[in-house]
Amino acid sequence: MKTYKIALIKGDGIGPEIIDEATKVLDAVASCYDFDFKYTEVLMGGCAYDITGDPLPQDTVRTALSSDAVLFGAIGGDKWDILPREKRPESGLLRFRKELGVYANLRPAVVYDELINASSLKPTVIEGVDLMVVRELIGGIYFGEPKGRDENKGYNTMVYTRSEIVRIAHHAFKIAMERKKRVCSIDKANVLDVSQLWREVVEEVSVEYPEVELTHMYVDNAAMQLVRDPKQFDVMLTGNIFGDILSDEASMLCGSIGLLPSASIGDKIGVYEPIHGSAPDIAGQGIANPIATISSASMMLRYALGEIEAANKIDAAIKKVLKEGYRTQDLAQYDAKEVCSTSEIGSIIANYTAK
Ligand code: NAD
Repeated sequence: MKTYKIALIKGDGIGPEIIDEATKVLDAVASCYDFDFKYTEVLMGGCAYDITGDPLPQDTVRTALSSDAVLFGAIGGDKWDILPREKRPESGLLRFRKELGVYANLRPAVVYDELINASSLKPTVIEGVDLMVVRELIGGIYFGEPKGRDENKGYNTMVYTRSEIVRIAHHAFKIAMERKKRVCSIDKANVLDVSQLWREVVEEVSVEYPEVELTHMYVDNAAMQLVRDPKQFDVMLTGNIFGDILSDEASMLCGSIGLLPSASIGDKIGVYEPIHGSAPDIAGQGIANPIATISSASMMLRYALGEIEAANKIDAAIKKVLKEGYRTQDLAQYDAKEVCSTSEIGSIIANYTAK
């Protein structure tokens, strides 16, 4: 029997509620296979600040680095917004990603047939959408030097090195090999030098993946194409800022923010988390949608632990639950047969997963 070590970061707001449902489903799927999980809960975010005075205690980083993967809920809330920037929960999260070296952010956007009416776009446009944004996460304009501001001027630097582009491009091509074998690299090569290098290096890396079709698209066109005809995309490879914007746009194709998972991956350890925040407005009411987090747990099985069959089992259980009309409050107006609490829907997914 194999035991996977998982660092659990529940965080703030709805974080604890949704993580509890994800571990329920993970334990259910483990019961079907020859592995189990050992969870170690560690603190991060506002709750960590309240107890230790630091939103990212060193023990959290140590435990994460000695685990097989990190499953993360969400952090933040109004209560901590008055703190100086470096003490705020969000600063802890950025430091965490940097310390773990998670340079690739994967955000799938899948439109479930059962929720086709939940999107603001026409069903004909979004039916069958299944794309993956692969975003570079720890470089580009958010981190480039020099940066600064004074009263009259503010500036940031968009910089990518060859090695940073090479590693994220390999990631995108490898993922495409497991999907429909198409990569669309997004840049602004008609204007930016950094994008010209990006395009050149992605072309070079593509030679190692002859089965994958590579295309390039300018970011402004990509933003338009995503709402015009999102089905044309399989893997979208982007730098940090372009991916930040496009992945949020892509997420809205799907209906509710409570559905969408993500993975942040590096050479050491991956962090698996829903794309939404801590939703303080609904925390503690038992109405949060745990599907994004359960789906993130499925990504963890797939990408960190190589348990593909188990991941497929969870994905199938989520689809079945939606098909049968079980909905949390956020999706209650879309063909709901029964409106469930966070823990009820988690239990139904767990039961289907264990079958
Ligand atoms: P949010 O994603 O927390 O909430 C936006 C809206 O979506 C809210 O109305 C919320 O109720 C709803 N929502 C979010 N998740 C849901 C779910 N699972 N089920 C049902 N409804 C859901 O974004 P926000 O309100 O802008 O931010 C709240 C806090 O979260 C802030 O402190 C912010 O900094 C933090 N935040 C954290 C992360 C993270 O931990 N990775 C990401 C984004 C925001």
